[in-house]
Amino acid sequence: MSILNLLFPRRCVSCGKIGHYFCLNCSKNISLVKWRFCPACHRPSFNGATHARCLSPYSLDGLFIGAHYSGPVKKAIHLIKYRFVSDLVNELTSLLFSSPPAFLRNLDFLVPVPLHFQKERERGFNQSLLISLALSEMINLPVKNNLLKRVKATKPQFGLKVGERKSNIRRAFRCLNPEFIKNKKIGLVDDVATTLSTLKECGRELKIAQAESVWAIVLAHGN
Ligand SMILES: [Zn+2]
Ligand SMILES: [Zn+2]
Repeated sequence: MSILNLLFPRRCVSCGKIGHYFCLNCSKNISLVKWRFCPACHRPSFNGATHARCLSPYSLDGLFIGAHYSGPVKKAIHLIKYRFVSDLVNELTSLLFSSPPAFLRNLDFLVPVPLHFQKERERGFNQSLLISLALSEMINLPVKNNLLKRVKATKPQFGLKVGERKSNIRRAFRCLNPEFIKNKKIGLVDDVATTLSTLKECGRELKIAQAESVWAIVLAHGN
């Protein structure tokens, strides 16, 4: 046990019990996503792959979600983002992605959804990068943090209507170093997704840069 753990013992995010961020009891309240759906039409699909009829040249190829954004997962993500409890990321990621699907192992690398540099400076880290790094250790995939950049400081998506979310995020991202994107199979990583507009917009940019496929990988899905 490290000195930090002695000084600041880990407490359950839900009930406060000392030991782990998720005690045995509260981890039973984590609601993992059981049924997979197509990111384009939101109807059930095998493994979350985009239906052949829903695919377009710039769409996501599939969507993998860990859990519903509720209970201990919601509390944990809130602690990570707003209280800077960044070491909670590893425990949360390994809990939610404990049985990673086969497609993940066929990817070339992971790309975190970037924050605008001002936001990242304020927060001190990009939570999607931390999740990517935790996932990369589990499935042994490299993380590329220099391929996608957020060029627009957007309003928070939270609280906007679906149509407003789309226009808010439109053209908010640019690909850098497209030569490293061409013909690659990419896992695009984010913490929480609701309408998927941010992921779709990132996916579109990566596809314009000729990525072979883009799967969205999300810790939690809010509704
Ligand atoms: Zn607990
Ligand atoms: Zn579909």
